[in-house]
Amino acid sequence: HDPLAGRRVLVAGLGVSGTAAARLLAERGAVVRAFDDRADAAERARELGVEHATGLPDDTDLVVTSPGWRPDTPLLREARDRGVEVIGEVELAWRLRGPGAAPWLALTGTNGKTTTVRMLTAMLTAAGHDAVAVGNVGTPIVDAVRKPHDVLAVELSSFQLHWSASLAPRAAAILNLAPDHLDWHGSPEAYAAAKARVYERAGTVVYNADDPQVAELAAPYAGAVGFTLRVPAPGQVGVVEDLLVDRAFTPDPVSTAEELASLSDVRPFAPHNVANALAAAALARAFGVPPEAVREGLRAFTPDPHRVAHVAEVAEVAYVNDSKATNPHAAAASLAAYPSVVWVAGGLLKGADVDGLVRDAAPRLRGAVLLGADRERIREALERHAPNVPVIEVAETHTGAMDRVVIEAARLASPGDTVLLAPAAASMDMFPGYGARGDAFAGAVRRLQEGPAPAG
Ligand code: ADP
Repeated sequence: HDPLAGRRVLVAGLGVSGTAAARLLAERGAVVRAFDDRADAAERARELGVEHATGLPDDTDLVVTSPGWRPDTPLLREARDRGVEVIGEVELAWRLRGPGAAPWLALTGTNGKTTTVRMLTAMLTAAGHDAVAVGNVGTPIVDAVRKPHDVLAVELSSFQLHWSASLAPRAAAILNLAPDHLDWHGSPEAYAAAKARVYERAGTVVYNADDPQVAELAAPYAGAVGFTLRVPAPGQVGVVEDLLVDRAFTPDPVSTAEELASLSDVRPFAPHNVANALAAAALARAFGVPPEAVREGLRAFTPDPHRVAHVAEVAEVAYVNDSKATNPHAAAASLAAYPSVVWVAGGLLKGADVDGLVRDAAPRLRGAVLLGADRERIREALERHAPNVPVIEVAETHTGAMDRVVIEAARLASPGDTVLLAPAAASMDMFPGYGARGDAFAGAVRRLQEGPAPAG
């Protein structure tokens, strides 16, 4: 007997994951109602063959919410006040796994999740497993748990973790922790608590030993495995000279370190990607993946676009697109990867503080070109910490503005410099998303490379 049969479930939010959840619940014999404030909600519910609700029906047993919904949304508040359980689609997927279902290797963090989950999947695949990356992007997780995979590499946002009370992954990693989404969670403590949830029932706890906040979250767990960019202590994976090494999953971690891969196997090469590779390796090793498959996986891994992607070299200046650096913590990581930078930044800061980022990056900056809604805030920080660095502001917001930006950046750059798009901000003030922003940058760089169009 299916425990969902006959239960009255309200699906709140008919996005990709909500739609998948509604469909699955209906198949399992639940009485499904769908709530969504978009104009075509009733029509979508009808297409799915479920009822359309305009509020929380009195007889609701369970609410499955879209992860983006804030806990203080009136509908979710009402559910809580009435004692109705609220879960997310990740929790639903976890509860619906069949007997003998694939174990989960889960990871979360402020930045690097997509990169790490893809590196992990490549390592698992290299070891001969039928593995798939799920969670924040890609296949809805409620669909993936019904397929006969060997193992799932699960990327979890802090939102999804907030709504997931009972996950017990085989291994779980927190990559890093910087203030983000504080408006949603309410406080830095609530944000950290949501992330920490991933450890609660994990078989192996994997943590960033170079990030004091993450190390603190892992401290209560005996046998937790740290990853570090330094020489690893016993119980850690880390870096020795130009090698990634394992001193955690080897038979004798005290006296031996096992080689996993070379630094040159990590692409695109940047310190933060080495950290991502080590985190993926620790999760893979916790699942029994042999060292050779870690290396093979890293070599097979294809980086996603707009993440420290090399665009071109023009007049001995490299142009790098890290449009996905949508918060200061991410931009700090990519700025730290280049010694001499003309920085292209700006957009929507969503209240984030750029002072620390600019202070730390100042010695590497040769110039800055600022665009977007919150560019003044970055200019002020540059005036405080890098008063001698030339700054150009581009006020235009039309699509051609990126050509201006790149031309100005090229003027500020000297041979050997890197022009780095690492905006530290969201793109929605000027572009449909970070992808469009990165494409605009890459297009402008190519036009620069081709030189001015012939007259006439
Ligand atoms: P997420 O899925 O968490 O957004 P991505 O793998 O898409 O992460 O990377 C987003 C951006 O975050 C990258 O473009 C890069 O600027 C930055 N980044 C990636 N890995 C790290 C890391 N380990 N630490 C800090 N910043 C990182």
